[in-house]
Amino acid sequence: MPEYDIGEIEQLIDGQLPWPRVQEIMKGAKDVDRFEKWVKILQGRVSWPEPILLPLTPALFIVQKENNERVVKCKCGQEFGDYRVNWKLSAAIYVRESEEDFKEIYRGSEQPDPAWTQVREYSCPGCGTMLEVEAVPRGTPPDFDFLPDLDTYYKEWLGRPLPDEQEFTDKTLETVAKWS
Ligand SMILES: [Zn+2]
Repeated sequence: MPEYDIGEIEQLIDGQLPWPRVQEIMKGAKDVDRFEKWVKILQGRVSWPEPILLPLTPALFIVQKENNERVVKCKCGQEFGDYRVNWKLSAAIYVRESEEDFKEIYRGSEQPDPAWTQVREYSCPGCGTMLEVEAVPRGTPPDFDFLPDLDTYYKEWLGRPLPDEQEFTDKTLETVAKWS
């Protein structure tokens, strides 16, 4: 199993490594050592104490709360709730849907047809960081990009099961149903 030094992974996170080297490291995605070091670096960059279980985006992390709940948390500390519910439901959303709106972000022929497409910008209500942008057909629900099976990952890949195994299921619809 290859090991990578912290400095190298730090450079990788910051996008400072040449592409071929990045690809080489990414091929070892199952590499436990690399994952642990990556998380350690990220943990050192946030000011809150909850352990990071998995990074979701450069600003969002699944963390373990004191009561073993697993929630999505922004680097600024803002929380987005249970990781099994799409965090986008708790984000600030800006929708672009006119030709004018699109002109601000697309150039020339790349521009999608506003009759069909909506561009949604999700940002953190706490710090305003843009978390994700999705261009989707009008009326579709927010994309749930990534629902990781944390218990399996920690148990089978990292060899250290998490406390309080939790049902692995998308709880987004359950949450939406509670709103009505
Ligand atoms: Zn934030």
